[in-house]
Amino acid sequence: MKISGITVWQIELPLSKPYWLSGGRLKFEAIDSTFVRIDTDEGISGWGEGCPWGHTYLPAHGPGLRAAIGVLAPALVGRDPRALDDINRAMDLQLPGHPYAKSPLDIACWDIIGKMSGEPLWRLLGAEKAAAVAVNSSISTGSPEEMIALIHDASAKGYRTHSAKIGGIDITADIERIDAISAALPEGEQVTFDVNRAWTPGVALQVLNAVSARDWIEQPCETLEQSALFASKVPQPIMLDECLHSFQDHLEAWRVGICQGVKVKPNRVGGLTRARHIRDFGVSVGWQMHIEDTGGSAFADTATLHLAASTPDANRLASWLCHAHLAIDPVPGQGARNSAGLVRVGDAPGVGVTPDPSLLGDPVAAYGDVA
Ligand code: MG
Repeated sequence: MKISGITVWQIELPLSKPYWLSGGRLKFEAIDSTFVRIDTDEGISGWGEGCPWGHTYLPAHGPGLRAAIGVLAPALVGRDPRALDDINRAMDLQLPGHPYAKSPLDIACWDIIGKMSGEPLWRLLGAEKAAAVAVNSSISTGSPEEMIALIHDASAKGYRTHSAKIGGIDITADIERIDAISAALPEGEQVTFDVNRAWTPGVALQVLNAVSARDWIEQPCETLEQSALFASKVPQPIMLDECLHSFQDHLEAWRVGICQGVKVKPNRVGGLTRARHIRDFGVSVGWQMHIEDTGGSAFADTATLHLAASTPDANRLASWLCHAHLAIDPVPGQGARNSAGLVRVGDAPGVGVTPDPSLLGDPVAAYGDVA
């Protein structure tokens, strides 16, 4: 089997309402998504989606993703899409780094393997049975009262795990947010306080030793090295997200003993092949993981949920669904959706979501022979 052609679409995904991260320093109103379809000489096609969360969240952005695909795609035409490790090595040889651009191409190859074998991705990712995955809310930065109101709204929709976005230079405001939200949390529900890199190590030490909350603290500082300066001096479990780009970064986080959990996001690390290596490493060292993507439609959410649904219960926390924040739905009627706080992937082969090209507009690029 050979890749015969690759087609690329771009679609702007407006959020249903503006969203603030990192104490309000980062604002998002729309995200830029890229869909790819890989066609093969045997008539089977696979789909992938790559969608950075804006351009201020990670060293990634929509136009950059498509420019990188322009470099990567010609090197993949003619190759066997089933040879995932060779596909990823070929992409790394063609363009070092840029994992976010490789992710949709890697996922499309996984989709092809699933369709060829008749198996859903969760089975190919190692599970006997797909778990029902808890979904977590994502609570935009605001005053404690505003954030608690959003948590109560999410609880009413069945969410039992929340990601509350905090962070900033006002130490008192963060101490108030953390303790007020932790105290107001409905019985049996969990919260992670996601700082999105906003603190310096000194601020982290001050805030985390002042609060009485013992909930997870996520990505407190910009870098792994900064988090290492205080991680052993605070009582809360630490989760890392944006500072982890490669398997080596995860190995370093474990070696230094910085965190008890990580976010595994295929778009941040280069696709499902790399995300699976990291998930398996995380299981072996006892990390607890949120497995979700950086952004995108129900396609991107579903592709990643196959990895979440194939992860042992003890190592899986919850997954965020980006599509729940969008004003439009490019894959209507398809994909995993929130049902009273749980989400399930189906048994359809591959990702189990086949986008309708007529809903994506005209292709923006094509490589090789495309259908
Ligand atoms: Mg995060």
